[in-house]
Parts: sequence; C-alpha cells; structure tokens
Amino acid sequence: MNSVRVCKIFTFDAAHQLLGHTGKCANLHGHTYTLEVVLQGEPQGADHPVDEGFVLDFADVKRITKKWIVDPLDHAFLAMGNEPVVSILQTTGSKVAVLGFRATAENLALYTCHQLRQAGLPVYSVKLWETPTAWAEVYAQDIPAGGPAYRVLGDCDGE
Ligand SMILES: [Zn+2]
Repeated sequence: MNSVRVCKIFTFDAAHQLLGHTGKCANLHGHTYTLEVVLQGEPQGADHPVDEGFVLDFADVKRITKKWIVDPLDHAFLAMGNEPVVSILQTTGSKVAVLGFRATAENLALYTCHQLRQAGLPVYSVKLWETPTAWAEVYAQDIPAGGPAYRVLGDCDGE
C-alpha cells in the first residue's frame, strides 16, 4: 500500500468570548485562524483516470471544507450559546455560529475533524492555529465514531 498524506490549508476570521475564564479571554475578541486539514489515503489508480495519482482532488477538499467549516465560521461569533451577546447579535443580523461548546481551539479542532469525517473526507488529522504561536491538533482515530466529548471550560492563547 502506498499510503500518502496530503494537506490543504485554510484561513478564517472569527470572534469568541470565553465566559468564566479568569483572564483576558473572557472579553469578546477575535482571531485569524489557520486550519490545516490532513487527509490520508492511497492515490487513485488507473481505474480512476480523472483522479489517477490523487488521494483526493484538492478542489474537492476545498469545496467540502468551505461548505462545512470555513463558510459557516468565517466572520462569525463562535458561541457556546449562553453568551448574553448572542441575542443582541442575532437581533441585529450579525453572524453567529451557535456551536454548543466553548469555542476553544481544542474544541474547534475536535469539531472540525468530526464534521469533515462525517462529510466523507478521509481525514487523518486537523490542526487549528488560533494565533501564530498556538495550535490544537486532533487525530481522527482519537475521536469516537459518535463524535467528540467537548469540554465546556477552557482557555485560549492570550499571550
Ligand atoms: Zn481567543
């Protein structure tokens, strides 16, 4: 088997507010996230002439990742759902992604890995950079088939 890993990188901007955090991440603030999606598979053979030599066409990786992750989260407020500001944002038509978990880099990486696997991508791992010096990484094999168990508390890189 010629197993190969390939990676496609995305960026998006989003805001969050980590309620209950004792540091400055309790303030509403934003990050420019960088998302690395790593897939693993055997490159297609001569029986798939259009995609021969590809694990998966990067255009397909882009389309699926944009649909499930980047488009819903870009320029959104990433909400657990209990933040008081959510109702104001929704009333004024501002973009809110209600995730049901605290929007830490760790949880967002778990979420992204699971969502992309559910969408059919052969995900190997996901690495989410919250800042240029801090990332969270998740290996698909470490997430139960039914989805991750999110922590409701957590920190962000506020250095
Ligand atoms: Zn933050």
